[in-house]
Amino acid sequence: MAKKNLQRLDLIFKNEQDGEQILTKTFKRSNQDIVNDLIISGLKGRGGAGYPTGLKWKLASEAEGDFKYVICNADEGEPGTFKDREILSQVPVKVLIGMAVCAKVIGAHEGYIYLRGEYKFLVEPLTEIIDDFHVLLNKIGFDFRVKIFLGSGAYICGEESALFESMEGHRGEPRNKPPFPTQAGYRKMPTVINNVETLAHTYSIFKYGPDKFKDLGVQDSRGSKVFSVSGDTPIPGIYELEFGMSLQKFVEDFGDGDAKAVQVGGASGFCVPRKKFENTKIGYQGKLTGVSLPTGGSMMIFNSSRSMYNVLHNYLEFFVEESCGQCTPCRVGTQQLLLGIEAVKKGEKSSEYLEKLLGLAENMRVTAKCGLGQSVANSFSSIVENFKEEMIY
Ligand code: SF4
Repeated sequence: MAKKNLQRLDLIFKNEQDGEQILTKTFKRSNQDIVNDLIISGLKGRGGAGYPTGLKWKLASEAEGDFKYVICNADEGEPGTFKDREILSQVPVKVLIGMAVCAKVIGAHEGYIYLRGEYKFLVEPLTEIIDDFHVLLNKIGFDFRVKIFLGSGAYICGEESALFESMEGHRGEPRNKPPFPTQAGYRKMPTVINNVETLAHTYSIFKYGPDKFKDLGVQDSRGSKVFSVSGDTPIPGIYELEFGMSLQKFVEDFGDGDAKAVQVGGASGFCVPRKKFENTKIGYQGKLTGVSLPTGGSMMIFNSSRSMYNVLHNYLEFFVEESCGQCTPCRVGTQQLLLGIEAVKKGEKSSEYLEKLLGLAENMRVTAKCGLGQSVANSFSSIVENFKEEMIY
């Protein structure tokens, strides 16, 4: 059982006391220079979608609107993901600085932290920190106010347009896209919505410059990433690691010596079996990486004592529960997938039926309205295809 020489980084969690200095220094720079640095750094959204952060800020800065908004997406609801909670607990000022600089770049005066309902305990400490931050903003003469919006526990509200609907007082249901949030987001105004970790990374880029960030990681996946490591590991927790690590190295460092699969990216992500560990690198989908990270950094390790049928059953129950029900492929598809694997496991359907279910899942990938329904196929197909013998009667 390894655990020696963990290559753990501390760009995000380093408790730096120079927030005022970094904010003042960055505010003296032109908006174009700030955006250029973000583009050069290669920073992509850490919530899962992986959209280039610099480009998002640029588009919102160019958009027309009576008001503009900056929203920090802290609705961390993916099973096995708990990194944003730690970032907001340990280094919230880095996130606030990222929000304030974004507000300067796009011309916003209002920002929100959309906080997962289950993180209610963070409201009080965060409110105190935000109050202090407002004093700092007054000092540098920038009119920007941050408020906390507490979610109500719906997973779908982590999807950006459902999050806007929720903030506007409606049911948390995803909107059609386009228009994208940089054109018409919160209150149909140009909005930048960034994940907690993405905003915290901007602080490191403002402080150390884009090259230091870019030097970490691999092509298409630059910088470090904060992972929530759970499952069959003797050292569960939060780890900041460099992109490009192979899953083989990952399980040597974090596994219990008997890992048979790693679920990369939570229930919405991919299940990678042991035989693919060596050739799978952790990073966004690209030329040098073998797997994408469709969600925010959950790494669940399963050892040989685990039933992958039970794992998949658990994910499907989650999706059935959390589907907002707005579109048929997802509302009906998630239920049919769950009923289908139950029938095969009980012997009521033959193993060939799994092929039909795989077809249904792939159908959902192209017909469901939002990322929730589209990504069900990730875990479904990767588990069924790699652990078929565990699915049958
Ligand atoms: Fe709602 Fe699912 Fe359709 Fe998304 S895919 S809009 S969660 S029913």
